[in-house]
Parts: sequence; C-alpha cells; structure tokens
Amino acid sequence: MSVRAGREFLAIPGPTNVPDEVLGAMHRPAVDIYTGPLLALTDSLLADMARLFHTKGHAYIYIANGHGAWEASITNVLSKGDKILVLESGRFAVGWGESARRMGVEVEILKGDMRRAVRPAEVEARLKADKANKGGGTIKAVMVAQIDTASGVVNDIAAIGEAMRAAKHDALLMVDTVASLGCMPFEMDKWGVDVAMSGSQKGLMTPPGLSFVAANDRARAAHKKAGLRTPYWDWTDREGDVHYQKYAGTPPEHLLFALRKALDILFEEGLDNAFRRHHLLAESVRRAVGVWGEGQAIGFNIIEASERSDTVTTTLVNGHDPEALRAYCREKCGVTVGHGIGELSGKAIRIAHMGHVNAPMILGTLSVVEMALAALNIPHGKGGVQAAIDWLSEQVPA
Ligand SMILES: *Cc1c(COP(=O)(O)O)cnc(C)c1O
Repeated sequence: MSVRAGREFLAIPGPTNVPDEVLGAMHRPAVDIYTGPLLALTDSLLADMARLFHTKGHAYIYIANGHGAWEASITNVLSKGDKILVLESGRFAVGWGESARRMGVEVEILKGDMRRAVRPAEVEARLKADKANKGGGTIKAVMVAQIDTASGVVNDIAAIGEAMRAAKHDALLMVDTVASLGCMPFEMDKWGVDVAMSGSQKGLMTPPGLSFVAANDRARAAHKKAGLRTPYWDWTDREGDVHYQKYAGTPPEHLLFALRKALDILFEEGLDNAFRRHHLLAESVRRAVGVWGEGQAIGFNIIEASERSDTVTTTLVNGHDPEALRAYCREKCGVTVGHGIGELSGKAIRIAHMGHVNAPMILGTLSVVEMALAALNIPHGKGGVQAAIDWLSEQVPA
C-alpha cells in the first residue's frame, strides 16, 4: 500500500524544485546567438548575478555544474605549485581543494570536522603563522563553502574575511555559495570576498547546467599572472565585447531563458523576503527535528544551533537505517529526501529547504518523515510536525 500519486516532491539539496514558470520559459524556439534579444539577455543576467553576489566586480556564466565553476575559479587565479588553504567544515570546500590539487596546486587543509563551522580564530592564527614565514607567506588563496551541503553547516564568511584582514594576509578569499546564494545574505564586496562561485540548480531554482563565478579587482589582477588558465574557462576571453566569447562558444539559450525567469521570480519576491522565508522554513524543520530527537535515535548533525544552515538540515539517524527511512518516504509517499554523504553515508538523511519551497512543501515533507519514523518504529519524540506548525504560525500572524 502507498499513498503516492501525482507530482513527486524532491527534498534533496540540489537539484531543487524548478517552478513551472521557469520550466515554461524554456519551452520556445532557439534564437539567433549573434544579434537580437539574446545579447541584452546576457547583459541583464551578468548584471543580476553581480547583484546577487553583491559585487561591483565581474560575473561570468559557465555552461557547467558547480564542479565546473570550481575549476573555472581555480584556473583563473592560480598557478601550478601555488599553495592554498582549504577550510574544512564538511565535504565541499575539501572537494574544491581536491580539484585544485589535481591541477598541481599544493593544498593544505585547515582541519575541521563534519559537525561544526570553521573557526575564524583558527584561520587568523594559521595565516599569521604563514606571514611570519621567511618571505612573508606562501598561501595564495583560502577556500571555504558558505553552506556545506553535506554537513548542513553555515560558515560565517564575514568573520572569516575579518580574520584574514586581522592577520594582514593578502591571500585571496574564495567562497563556494552553491547552496546559499539566493537563500541567505552574501555580501561579496563588504565581506572582502575576492572570488565567489555558485550553481543554477539549488537556491536559484533553475535546472542544472549553469554555474557562475564573480571576481573582484584583486582576483582579476591575480588572473593576469595565473598559470593554470585554459581557453574555455578564461576570464579575459569572456570579458570582451563579442557575445559568442562570453560563453566561449554557443550560449546555453534555454537555460538562460530559465535563469531570467527564476531571477525575476526571486527579485519580485525580494531578496530579503526570500531570505526570511528560508529562515522561517528552516527553523520549522529544526523545530520538528528537535522534538523527534527526544527519542534519542534522531539528532542534529551540527552541534551548535547557530551553525545550522537555512538551506539543508543534516539529520542523524542513530542505530537505524536511514535508507529504509528514505525509501519509505519515496516509495510510500512520493517525497525524496537526501541521503548522508561522505562520512555520514548510511548514517543520516538530509532535508533540503532551499530554493522554490513554501509551507505546504516543507510541512508536507516533515509530515512524511514523521509518518516514516512511526511506520518504521524508529524511536522519536512525538509532535515534531506540530512544533513546526506552532513555530510558523507564531512567525506568520494573521
Ligand atoms: C552541490 C554543491 C556543489 C557541487 O555542485 P555540482 O553542480 O553538483 O557540481 C558544490 N558546493 C556546494 C556547497 C554544493 O552544495
């Protein structure tokens, strides 16, 4: 027996739910790539991506997923043999660093773990020690993820930028915002971020296949000397006036139409409203998980409440099979929640609340998880969904 019919709901941390209007925007014939409206569309998207990153710097659009934008940012500012510092707080910054390592960059990982945010004081101490080295420091860049989608942590990028300035270190600050852009504040210029990257398929509600990089003047100066530059990713080629060059070839027209619609939806809601919506829905998930946790089997992966992200809640399932829980949600109810990855593989589920999400989607997902906990006899505190509703109804008064 199942109670599954109609539209399936994807509650994984990317790709996320694509609004019907965004899907509809792609359903049209191809257009000329050399003249006509596509040129203005590109200009509007580049301007709006810079607006989303909050930078006066340059934005670039790549036909690639997040891994492509990782590679784009590495090749444009680094050379073989350069050293970088990767701030560990889950899987993703480490994955970015691994790409750099495979390109011949020397990678040092500032040890963190799966259950907490990066400590800015540790960044400051490491960079101070580097500066004290003969020759005044060798670390060329620092890499960090704003939200790590594996651990569910949110890192304080402003504080990390502050720590780098306190260390008087001039390494570039490079930030992965794949799981956070459009869902929470990101202030590239104000926080002193030199390179930021993101992808289309998470907070930006667009199908997978586009990714974005933004670079400030410091990053573009480093670019001039970067030895890893390759023709496809190269910023200089993409900065010219020729439209075709902005994509190093044929523009991904239909994805651009989709992105335009998605950004229109986001700006129409208002960024602050979108951030607030994410926060409220995320907190409702946390209220439910907190109550479920009273049964001991369920718990938060991120220990410190203030370090839990507003886009994904990584939820530990102790002593029970999270895959059985996920299978129940999917097969009986048509809701797909995320699986644990990295060292949390087989130990956690991840409930995404990012992008085009609203109260029925999130409360529905929580209800299905609670139903699965009961059906599978996984011990849990009763009334998680009710706690989520109580919280939301207080925050959203009549
Ligand atoms: C999803 C994700 C990526 C990887 O993006 P892909 O599009 O899958 O290559 C990188 N960083 C973070 C934080 C992510 O959540």
